[in-house]
Amino acid sequence: MKQKKNNVAIIGGGIVGSLLALILGLNGLKITVIDRQKKDKLFSKNHYVKSYALNQGSSNLLNILNIWDIIKTKSQPIDKILLKQGSSISSIQPFELIFSNDYSKNNYLFHMIEEIYLKKAIVEKIDKCPNIEYLYSSNVVEQFIDKNSTKLVLDNGQIIYSDLIVGSDGYPSSSAKKAGIQHVNYSYNQSSIVGIFKHEIPHENEAVQIFLPSGPLAILPLSGNRSSFVWTNETNEAVRIFNLNDLNFLNELNTAFQNRRGQIQLESKKSMFPISLTIPKKVIKERFVIIGDTAHKIHPIAGQGLNLGIRDVAALAEVLILSRRLGEDIGSRLVLNKYSKWRNLDVTSVVFFTNFANKIFSNDNFLKKFATGIGFKLLNESKTIKNYFISEASGLSGDIPKLLKGCKL
Ligand SMILES: Cc1cc2nc3c(=O)[nH]c(=O)nc-3n(C[C@H](O)[C@H](O)[C@H](O)COP(=O)(O)OP(=O)(O)OC[C@H]3O[C@@H](n4cnc5c(N)ncnc54)[C@H](O)[C@@H]3O)c2cc1C
Repeated sequence: MKQKKNNVAIIGGGIVGSLLALILGLNGLKITVIDRQKKDKLFSKNHYVKSYALNQGSSNLLNILNIWDIIKTKSQPIDKILLKQGSSISSIQPFELIFSNDYSKNNYLFHMIEEIYLKKAIVEKIDKCPNIEYLYSSNVVEQFIDKNSTKLVLDNGQIIYSDLIVGSDGYPSSSAKKAGIQHVNYSYNQSSIVGIFKHEIPHENEAVQIFLPSGPLAILPLSGNRSSFVWTNETNEAVRIFNLNDLNFLNELNTAFQNRRGQIQLESKKSMFPISLTIPKKVIKERFVIIGDTAHKIHPIAGQGLNLGIRDVAALAEVLILSRRLGEDIGSRLVLNKYSKWRNLDVTSVVFFTNFANKIFSNDNFLKKFATGIGFKLLNESKTIKNYFISEASGLSGDIPKLLKGCKL
């Protein structure tokens, strides 16, 4: 039976857990990442359907890690966002709100990147970092935490000792459950169908989100004449649409999208995700902390979930690295409390905003729709409010961790 002693054991090597591992490893900490996925699945294109709209803060962090240069050629800038209010599948109301890069300090608003390219680039960097051991196809069977150290027992008998365990195994999270962290879960009774399609008419760097009564439909530009779709509906309707054959599915998608991109053709398989709001009662315990979707699973309406997780990574990495340099115990409550306090306001604001936006936009109530339409119209005419929204969405407002500003630790 092998034994390992590390600074940090990370359970869950998704994008969030892997990024944290890379930053800590590059700064001299000894890290083990444990993920239940097989390595060959990680690089299979079939396994991925999601694409992410990365904000400026996330891009800055990737840039500092020299990952941005690798994925830049695969990414697609978004120069314009069109938000439209819709009432039913066939009749889109005229109210709309446009954000363009005139409101941004850069010449773009977000960058779209497909999950496979981002994950590949991070894993390639991890493979080159001698301080990180990434264990694939591994499951934790026992998780012990005491005042001085932590111990994980894996299903192959391997034992890992560390000063701190990070739970980044998404939601539901077995690491949080084992640590005694409870979550509050609110189901929206909605599911999102996600995939990639090719289209006839160029997207011209424009992202579109149409607010239909049963949920938003987002069409986000990818490189070439390709786009990613995130189509959220009440779960019964989503299941019906998901089970249509490809031809009928594409017909309904195009109708909902008013044929804005001409003829469309599926490029990826489509996947369906149940949508819920899940928040933990706390994010830290002695020698244990949760980040990413384990710490906040939110509605995809604003495409902010991963960006929020990347902000967790930037803040936790900064707290751990600086505390270690000062000779502090990185697993102690004293250190972890700094992280928890730092993240509280940002996470609460994004949770509130996404929940509110879904409630306001996903309904068929005439008065609410009328009021939202007027709100859209007023917003569309206010440069100040638009500037505010763009600055908030860039991930660069408030007390920002250094990595998000593009500075080294
Ligand atoms: C439809 C949809 C669209 C979205 N679009 C966007 C977007 O445009 N922009 C954006 O910022 N966010 C978006 N999000 C949110 C984003 O997908 C998540 O916030 C992000 O993937 C969370 O990453 P994570 O690493 O925290 O968790 P996950 O991606 O869930 O990763 C968890 C990892 O843990 C591993 N794991 C799980 N259980 C165990 C276990 N017991 N033992 C070991 N390993 C385990 C898994 O294999 C996985 O690798 C979207 C979400 C949805 C549902």
